[in-house]
Amino acid sequence: MRAVVFDRTLSFQPGHPDPRPLAGECVVRVHFAGICATDLHILGGYMNFRGVLGHEMVGTVVSGSPQWRGRRVVCEINCVCRQCEMCLSGLSNHCRKRTVMGIDGRDGCFADLVAVPERNLHAVPDVVSDEEAVFVEPLAAAYQVLAQCPIEPRMTVSVVGSGRLGLLVAQVLAGTGCRLTVIGRNPAKLLLCEKRGIQAIHVDELPRKQDRDVVVECTGAPEGMTLAMQLVRPRGTIVLKSTYAKAEPLNLAPIVVNEVRLLGSRCGPFEEAINALARKAVDVRPLLTKTFPIEQAVAAFEAVRRPETVKVLLRVSPK
Ligand SMILES: [Zn+2]
Ligand SMILES: [Zn+2]
Repeated sequence: MRAVVFDRTLSFQPGHPDPRPLAGECVVRVHFAGICATDLHILGGYMNFRGVLGHEMVGTVVSGSPQWRGRRVVCEINCVCRQCEMCLSGLSNHCRKRTVMGIDGRDGCFADLVAVPERNLHAVPDVVSDEEAVFVEPLAAAYQVLAQCPIEPRMTVSVVGSGRLGLLVAQVLAGTGCRLTVIGRNPAKLLLCEKRGIQAIHVDELPRKQDRDVVVECTGAPEGMTLAMQLVRPRGTIVLKSTYAKAEPLNLAPIVVNEVRLLGSRCGPFEEAINALARKAVDVRPLLTKTFPIEQAVAAFEAVRRPETVKVLLRVSPK
């Protein structure tokens, strides 16, 4: 099969071995896959991953049990044991023995075929297109902010970062009716917010007043955390969505002085994301910058790094 492999360098491989599904797994033929910041971090050394990259996808089940075969699906990325104390306490995303598709110990979806546990699958309703469904995984991560930090209409909330994840988080938070601002650098991305009625401010024009109830940090860079600490009010909450590939010295004294609550936040509820796309509560289509055929994956990764890019997809084998 065709596959995009990271093994110290990134390469497209036309003749990679097909996946071999374990018990309880099925094989999905990938239609589209999305490139995200985590993939770039992996290229920078995050998780020491080697293998087929990719964790955001939509596809059709081609082998596995009859109730799934032929269905269009998206797939949760954490593959868990269901036996450790994390799994047994209902926190299976934190399974002690987990593998994570295209991130940790398991091949990903930048390939014709990917093997995944059947219990990770979610069917995609017909009203959600392939190009929308490929956003389910990052959109679920955006909904996780609400799962961890309930937002009420009277609250003042800022999203730091107007990239792929920041723009999804902004749309999800806008649905709560809170007083929301998005802080970013790129005028075109800030305009995307304004088109949806979300207030957007350039980082250079921002008063740093420590007056926000909640700040969601989505920049992918340690400076974003520094800015979040300058914006959150005493006893407020910072939700940290970024993973940093490299350790940077960071002065956390403002967290202590202002008694700020710091919440790490990762993967989220797929069903909420699918429902939001189905009822058009979130519009991901304006976020799609460009689609590359899988053979041009290396060029696609270069496009992801350009500041004006929001989302880049790989076209693998759409129907
Ligand atoms: Zn991702
Ligand atoms: Zn477990």
